[in-house]
Amino acid sequence: MAKINLFQSAMQQLDVAAKILNLDKQILVQLQHPSRVLSVSVPINLDNGEVRVFQGFRVQYNDARGPFKGGLRYHSQVDMDEVKALAFWMSIKNAVVDIPFGGGKGGIAVDPKKLSKRELERLSRKFIDLIYKDIGPKVDVPAPDVNTTPEIMGWMVDEYSKLVGKFTPAVITGKPLSMGGSQGREEATGFGGVAVLKQAAKAAKLKKHATMAVQGFGNVGSNFSEVAIQAGFKLVAVSDSKSGIYSPKGLDLKKLRDYKHQHQTFIGFPGAAEVTNEKLLELPVDVLVPAALENQIHQGNAKKIRAKIIVEMANGPTTPAADLILNARGVWVIPDVLANSGGVAASYLEWSQNLKGLKWTKKVVLGKLTVYMTKAWQQVLATHEKYQTDFRTAAFILAINRIAQAMRDRGL
Ligand code: GLU
Repeated sequence: MAKINLFQSAMQQLDVAAKILNLDKQILVQLQHPSRVLSVSVPINLDNGEVRVFQGFRVQYNDARGPFKGGLRYHSQVDMDEVKALAFWMSIKNAVVDIPFGGGKGGIAVDPKKLSKRELERLSRKFIDLIYKDIGPKVDVPAPDVNTTPEIMGWMVDEYSKLVGKFTPAVITGKPLSMGGSQGREEATGFGGVAVLKQAAKAAKLKKHATMAVQGFGNVGSNFSEVAIQAGFKLVAVSDSKSGIYSPKGLDLKKLRDYKHQHQTFIGFPGAAEVTNEKLLELPVDVLVPAALENQIHQGNAKKIRAKIIVEMANGPTTPAADLILNARGVWVIPDVLANSGGVAASYLEWSQNLKGLKWTKKVVLGKLTVYMTKAWQQVLATHEKYQTDFRTAAFILAINRIAQAMRDRGL
């Protein structure tokens, strides 16, 4: 399969919604271009004394509704097109969930598993040295994404704070609790996704104990599974970057986590058959949850998907060609810009606490998050009914209207 250009996919999605809205050309052309792109070479000393240079990116896409906001990912596949697409999607996502942020994204082309902890810290601090003048609590607020953790965010906030001469926790969200991180942020993306799934399952009249397969078992896939099981869904398949397992009888999450921790793989888990990441997508389940990387559901496998609902917990897991096939087949695709917006909504709650010097309990944070997620779902559903479109297009229509309004009001 030819490599699918993620930014082109994102622009196709924008076009579909813009046509339905008959969007003003002046607005459309601005939404087709990021405001600013930063590309930096990040040199660090390796532990063996050698110097290696990594490529780092930050794309500030649109800030009509507030400061740029979005994560930083560490992955060997990171490139400018990918980061541009992800930054555009953050602009849409933040407008769907209606928090006062624009959209941005960044990353470093690196496989963090190949670096020691000290090397990773040097890389993270050096990246901040190179971009600190371009970020800030009211300018651009990074956060974790694929392979980046609260610990990494902590180093970054520390570096930024040293450079500007004052402790500035609101510059980055997803921090450790000890330095201004928020209760509930760690599980927020999974929690928010399940809040949406519960509503969607009701609307789609899914039976009780509906089965689900989860691709990817990082922060998002793992927390999503936990909260979904608590809500009554039955986990029958999971995978990590290497491989997965399937058991129609259901998987015990605690045993699964212990097994993975002990063996670094799911393979061999008692009572479960091995499945590849590709085959996991085609299992006979009610709910499919891609929670790993982009372009997983494409023209080649969209016909074989048997789930009734796909909850996109990864960013960009479904290509536009696959969307057409799935929509024609009546599969509900709950789009990334809605399904995984709980992460950034909790980031907004963290940022708000930092700016006001407050500390909310987990109950308060998750309560507020539930309100944001439920409202976003209801508004996307209403737009889907009004325009008779799929859910992705509905979410885009909702978001683009909000962004366009802010652009007009600001006179951009
Ligand atoms: N990386 C997450 C996302 O893709 C969270 C971003 C944030 O909290 O700013 O939505």
